[in-house]
Amino acid sequence: MRLLIMGPPGAGKGTQASAVAAHFGVPAISTGDIFRANVAQGTPLGVEAKRYMDAGEYVPDEVTNNMVRNRIAEPDAQPGFLLDGYPRTLAQVTELDGMIDATGHKLDAVLVLTVDQDALVGRLLKRAETEGRADDTEEVIRRRQEVYREETEPLIAVYGERGLVVEVDGMGEIADVQQRIFAALDELDQS
Ligand code: AMP
Repeated sequence: MRLLIMGPPGAGKGTQASAVAAHFGVPAISTGDIFRANVAQGTPLGVEAKRYMDAGEYVPDEVTNNMVRNRIAEPDAQPGFLLDGYPRTLAQVTELDGMIDATGHKLDAVLVLTVDQDALVGRLLKRAETEGRADDTEEVIRRRQEVYREETEPLIAVYGERGLVVEVDGMGEIADVQQRIFAALDELDQS
């Protein structure tokens, strides 16, 4: 299984990604988590990424693409993967196409979590209290939503044209959203 999970910041991608990936026996690969681990360890990649992350901007494509290329070349990702937070730009879509083509595989589906825009900021501010992420201040949250709408939302139409988009309502309890995701993926399997 080669899957992507998309949705605006605060849609609950990370939470759902872990469950879906575990179900299919593939790693959930979150570019945000990899960047944060590098920031925490003070690696050169982390130092570079932090400048952008703290401002709510995207880390440059070249840096992000290389990181993903290396990660999905690792042995645990050979049976497949679920990418959380990548691709986020059209240039990243093209790069990912090349990476997957090179392995002779194809993308199976793009899960899109839909959420009520008004609920998002509230969810993120709550997360700021529990997780203490540096990029969960109100100003940065707003910027991240804006960047998402400008750069990433258009990718849904791109994957939609390829017939890959599986849209799932991301509102409500975590367990309910998870059930909806599995139901939607089952349907896809049978079609
Ligand atoms: P996330 O945890 O997915 O919300 O990502 C946190 C931050 O990491 C984002 O706001 C970006 O600064 C950076 N980031 C994560 N994934 C990407 C990506 N695919 N392209 C560029 N920047 C990214």
